[in-house]
Amino acid sequence: MAAVDPGDEKNTPPMVAARRSPVTTALITSCLREELQARLVALGQPAYRASQVLHGIYRRRARDFAGLSDLPAALRAQLAAEFVFPALTLVRVLGARDTTQKFLFRLSDGQLIESVLIPASPALYGEASDRRTLCVSSQVGCAYGCKFCASGLDGWTRNLQAGEIVEQVLQAEALGGNRVDNLVFMGMGEPLANFDNLLRAIAILNDAEWGLGLGARRMTVSTSGLAPQIRQLADQPRQIRLAISLHGATDEVRSQIMPVNRKYPLAALLDACRYWRSHKKQRLTFEFILIADLNDSPAQAQALAALANELAAKVNLIPYNTVAGLPWLRPPEARCEAFLRTLRARGVAATLRREKGHDIDAACGQLRRQTMQGENGG
Ligand code: SF4
Repeated sequence: MAAVDPGDEKNTPPMVAARRSPVTTALITSCLREELQARLVALGQPAYRASQVLHGIYRRRARDFAGLSDLPAALRAQLAAEFVFPALTLVRVLGARDTTQKFLFRLSDGQLIESVLIPASPALYGEASDRRTLCVSSQVGCAYGCKFCASGLDGWTRNLQAGEIVEQVLQAEALGGNRVDNLVFMGMGEPLANFDNLLRAIAILNDAEWGLGLGARRMTVSTSGLAPQIRQLADQPRQIRLAISLHGATDEVRSQIMPVNRKYPLAALLDACRYWRSHKKQRLTFEFILIADLNDSPAQAQALAALANELAAKVNLIPYNTVAGLPWLRPPEARCEAFLRTLRARGVAATLRREKGHDIDAACGQLRRQTMQGENGG
């Protein structure tokens, strides 16, 4: 674990286990249209070429500059001299097309990230739906050190660039053979600690004119509770959704498993949630991983119900997925169902996820850890 103040997103953690130099060349999929226009005009090209380039990438799905075959060769050569496509190489895939699929990608600097494609099922964060959901990573590793999470075990390495986030969607659609309808920023990393790249990726994914055209309401940002960034996100005009990884309904329980709670205790987090609610039209979601003998008691259920009712938040209960090397256990099914009943009896809109990913180590960060340990002979 990198020695950082958990929750201090300005205190950028040191590079941990980076094997090659960080990415430095401009990624074409990190570009907003106006930036590409400005660059092409500076290169002596007409501004409208930017729209043609982006149309080729996001509509026709060109995967390299040669694939932009309707553009003049000279322009393609200029683009290739200025930009690169993000090199996400598929290392492993677990699952099959009609089940949850987990992709392990290697980035151009050798780092590993995971994306998880969840097939049609009742929507977890939006309205009832039979749509396909992709869970993307926002960082390599994570500095926040939640005690139940495999992604935080090896600390933070680097932020993903916006284009590397966008590329996960493009690759998942190509590999899964279908469009992604819902996107959750719930993979490796704390998305709000990579705020600028997150917003940039959302802008590219959302823009219907030149980007991927994924609706803002179909994107959910999940945070461990960075209160200042929740407010900043609330100030953004796009109607994206927000999920709070709560996992403890009192400071006493939450601080045991989420170091970020020491920096932003529940009072500060809930204040930020109120701010969000006053700026956005849609409901918040509280994520709550049920861990045996830690947060699965009737008292926690009652405290959670009170918080959810105050903020009119939905609750998504997730029975814990065992992580190798960590001591936590999944509660018995009956205990999870009882927790759900307590919430519902108090009028909370709550669901209990009957986990689809349990059999393929779908808990965030596990596939990456296994692969890293194998490569390091660990
Ligand atoms: S749960 Fe999220 S914020 Fe916490 S360590 Fe894992 S990736 Fe980081």
